[in-house]
Amino acid sequence: MKFSLSQRPLSQYRGRFAPSPSGLLHFGSLVAALASYLDAKHHHGRWLVRIEDIDPPREQAGASQQILATLDAFGLHWDEQVLYQSQQSELYLDVLSDLKKHQLSYCCQCTRAQIKAIGGIYQGHCRSLNLDRNKSAIRVINKHGIYQYQDVIQGQVSCNQALAQEDFIVFRKDGLFAYQLACVVDDIFQGISHVIRGFDLLEPTARQLSFFQILACQAPQYGHIPLAVTEEGYKLSKQNKAPAINNEKPQPALIAALNFLGQSPDSELALASVNEIITWAVQNWQRENVPKVAEIAL
Ligand code: GLU
Ligand code: ZN
Repeated sequence: MKFSLSQRPLSQYRGRFAPSPSGLLHFGSLVAALASYLDAKHHHGRWLVRIEDIDPPREQAGASQQILATLDAFGLHWDEQVLYQSQQSELYLDVLSDLKKHQLSYCCQCTRAQIKAIGGIYQGHCRSLNLDRNKSAIRVINKHGIYQYQDVIQGQVSCNQALAQEDFIVFRKDGLFAYQLACVVDDIFQGISHVIRGFDLLEPTARQLSFFQILACQAPQYGHIPLAVTEEGYKLSKQNKAPAINNEKPQPALIAALNFLGQSPDSELALASVNEIITWAVQNWQRENVPKVAEIAL
């Protein structure tokens, strides 16, 4: 099978942080950025930033620039040019056409209400209908159906099998590329070897692992960190109230984020510079001390 994508060997650690510019970074997303940065740098890897701006209606004007400014202020400096998903359409279209050519995808016109009415799991209704492209979503044939995987932070993860094995959407009915497509294609395009991110993506990871197999590419290793924050971005635990993100004064949020990640920063670090805090954190990063989802009292 020949795809438009070529993948570099994943022998070198390449990590990434991939925010959507639908809002500014809050404490929870800062924790995810920090964890992916520290894990990459502790392993002498490279750390990339990718702006996932594929959903214009959900975008907040100016958010991309502000996210990058926050990362900079917090000492999280990226190693290569920032990749904007809005610039990747050609590659996504090539992959969609490859999938079609190899009969690995099909058009679907089912509505959310119809799927809900049959129990909420898509059963491949349109797979053999040969529907027209017009007003259709495109689903990929999920022949691998991976639903379990080894997570470098959470250990063995087991997802809802029926959901993980659905034929999932790679192109939306409203004409936008789906997150699963853009994310996996770009992780391949950028040669990402490790994905450290929030546990809200534990379940989508199963689909992404299946998609890597469909595209005949090697998947990265995944690690999911807890993101127990409220809507406003405050950590839920009483004793450790997270400070709001302030680019002028990043130190308190950095120390709080390290505590949240189970890294126990030295108390004198509270008075240190951003660079000193980051240098300490890279050297002392211990993945195994990051709390597991099961240990988080929600
Ligand atoms: N853009 C996604 C989000 O902000 C994260 C994607 C990822 O890390 O894979 O939720
Ligand atoms: Zn359908």
